[in-house]
Amino acid sequence: MSQDMTLETVRALDAKDSLRAFRERFVIPDNMIYLDGNSLGPAPKSAFAALDRAANVEWGQDLIRSWNSAGWFELPLRLGDKVGELTGASAGQIAVCDSTSINIFKALSAAASLRPDRKVIVAEGTSFPTDLYIAEGFVASQPDLTLKLEGVDGDTIEELLGPDVGVVLLNHVNYRSGRLHDMKALTRRIHEAGALVVWDLCHSAGALDVQLDDCDVDFAVGCTYKYINGGPGAPAFIYVAKRHQAEARQPLSGWWGHVRPFAFEQQYEAAPAIARFLCGTQPILSMQTLSGALEAWQGVNMANLRVKSLALTDLFIKLVEERCAGFDLQLITPRNHNERGSQVGFTHPHAYEVMQALIADQVVGDFRAPDVLRFGFTPLYVSYEDVWNAIEILRDVLVTERWKEPRFATQNAVT
Ligand SMILES: *Cc1c(COP(=O)(O)O)cnc(C)c1O
Repeated sequence: MSQDMTLETVRALDAKDSLRAFRERFVIPDNMIYLDGNSLGPAPKSAFAALDRAANVEWGQDLIRSWNSAGWFELPLRLGDKVGELTGASAGQIAVCDSTSINIFKALSAAASLRPDRKVIVAEGTSFPTDLYIAEGFVASQPDLTLKLEGVDGDTIEELLGPDVGVVLLNHVNYRSGRLHDMKALTRRIHEAGALVVWDLCHSAGALDVQLDDCDVDFAVGCTYKYINGGPGAPAFIYVAKRHQAEARQPLSGWWGHVRPFAFEQQYEAAPAIARFLCGTQPILSMQTLSGALEAWQGVNMANLRVKSLALTDLFIKLVEERCAGFDLQLITPRNHNERGSQVGFTHPHAYEVMQALIADQVVGDFRAPDVLRFGFTPLYVSYEDVWNAIEILRDVLVTERWKEPRFATQNAVT
């Protein structure tokens, strides 16, 4: 990228952008620069159409028949295969169901059940907190398991990988810093140590070219309401590699995971494949909304998406450092492409207030305690010009110090 970017050079990048037309598939409020697709993706127009059909026709008119006629019952596995297309998983290995938190519990239990003699679970101290809370809860429910954390019980995952480690739970992209792990290399090292891996893809599914099968991953989980744009509270997913499906057991043995749910038998018998990772009845309106949202991914090449994502984050970092120098902003996201997800974080002593002032001016990112301004870059609907304009507004917020207005200091429940 040339030294001096101008609005014209940035517009020229948009003119050449092969993903530019995808923005039309989304509802983006007028004048908003939305840099929070890593928290809640905007609505694909196709999602609204699917939700409308599900509510008015399938529920409103066809009622109970829709379990068969609209394919409601098959949705978890049908959508799972579609999520697989975005994450490098061949068919029959992903179920869309429940929440990420619940799926972490199922994946940890199943992985631990495959390594019964190994009593240690390893996770990252900097994980998204729900991963740690669920791991704590799971470990507490088992008589002799313990949890060890990178950054607490050892400096690196490598250092913690002893003969007693059965499962390692990792966040593919860190939710605060945006740091990306090398999935293939880490999975290999964990396997060499005799353990299994559970990858949390919440900040990578739909954001970069994830290759679950190629990386020989054992288990993975992720949500669909962030980069996949499935809607608030959209169901999550769980990936279980084919080779583990026959042996892996999960403890939430509800009727949807039974081999014959409609035989209404007295005893549980797990379904033979990925279906055993289902628990109970799923939120069909959310499922159908997600089904519509996935239509917006048709024709998207994930490698191209990744190229634009890196170009957007490169541009953002460069422009912040050039145009907002001297305002106490510190980059916490790796500069190296191989170590960067699709978001950028800067610390600032008044990050909360600065973010509130930005949001008031329609530049929507988010704040992560205690001091991070977090910006997500989603190549399907964010343009290079959006990045330029966001920086101009950030610069103005800092130069005028309008973030000091008292209204920006009031803390909301959700940041
Ligand atoms: C967003 C996120 C979650 C969210 O879990 P829910 O059960 O959907 O609330 C979990 N893990 C990571 C890494 C996340 O970024």
